[in-house]
Amino acid sequence: MADKVIAKTDLRKWLAGMAADHDVIAPIGREAGPATWKDINGTQDIDITANQMVMAAKEFLLPVHDVLFRFHTRKGEERLEVPDLTNKSTVMIGLRLCDVRAISVLDAVYYNQGPFRDAYYAARRDKLALVAAVCDDPRWSCFCTTVGDLKEWKLGADVLITDLGDKIYVQPVTEKGEGLLQGDFFSSPSEDDVRKKSEVWANLLALPKRPFAGKDISKIVSWDDPVWEEQARKCIGCGICTFMCPTCSCFDIQDETTGSVIERYRCRDTCQFSDFTMMGAGHNPRPEKKMRVRQRVLHKFKYQVEQFDLIGCTGCGRCVESCPVNIDIRGIVSHIAAEPL
Ligand code: SF4
Ligand code: SF4
Repeated sequence: MADKVIAKTDLRKWLAGMAADHDVIAPIGREAGPATWKDINGTQDIDITANQMVMAAKEFLLPVHDVLFRFHTRKGEERLEVPDLTNKSTVMIGLRLCDVRAISVLDAVYYNQGPFRDAYYAARRDKLALVAAVCDDPRWSCFCTTVGDLKEWKLGADVLITDLGDKIYVQPVTEKGEGLLQGDFFSSPSEDDVRKKSEVWANLLALPKRPFAGKDISKIVSWDDPVWEEQARKCIGCGICTFMCPTCSCFDIQDETTGSVIERYRCRDTCQFSDFTMMGAGHNPRPEKKMRVRQRVLHKFKYQVEQFDLIGCTGCGRCVESCPVNIDIRGIVSHIAAEPL
């Protein structure tokens, strides 16, 4: 598979070509703010240098409100309505390598589960192609290189794109990705293009690692560490950290009735809410906030390591930036590793 370059002035043509056969979801920059995802249908310019999106790729794979089925109860018209899962294929363009990795974590939970594969997730995932942008300006909160190997993570993408200024360096990673690189606006990269692309990669890989890099937190973490109580005193239990997290995937199922229609939908839930583990008989195995604070960290750095052999945190920094009381998971993990932040 051969690398290519495309002039930024031709980007719209590429997107329009892809939009003929796919839904194209891309970051749309907001004035003076971080970008958000939108189905652009190939009709808009995209800002691939928009840095990391506020909302991660799970916005598409695990929508906030995901209708599982509706039951129509009007007399004589009773019927079950199941959403059409034969989606058009979708190209997600501009996500970062941390979000590519986050999809691998979600896949472990929803997709790679043999007979327990989630049909709703799978319908979207089966036809999803990932065009990932290599970060040229990591945010202050990023710590991806501390928790993973970006050279491995990039293999989860179908295409890699690197911003070279007036053009974009395009690397197909999979055959699916190579199929997206059609058009006479692509050309072969020059030696200078290759050098610039390598510099962006080298800068990203040189991102300072946190002192806990490489430490197996799953083996050294203590269930009774006072850090859980300390952090719980600050935590207000809002759940924003998990809502924003690209790998957090816990959900609730709700039934709602609107007149003659009963709708069952899946929505997000969070281990930070006190009723998350409440059982029907009234027992709650995690009644104290320190237990819920502990759960969020252990789920990512211990349970998913033991269950899937991967760290459930991608170092995207969203929880660090969004916590209203400045709880910083990097500080908690550093403390566990007995290292300064
Ligand atoms: S725990 Fe925080 S830094 Fe890690 S993936 Fe989730 S939001 Fe990102
Ligand atoms: S965002 Fe901060 S305050 Fe809110 S639940 Fe998470 S750690 Fe607690």
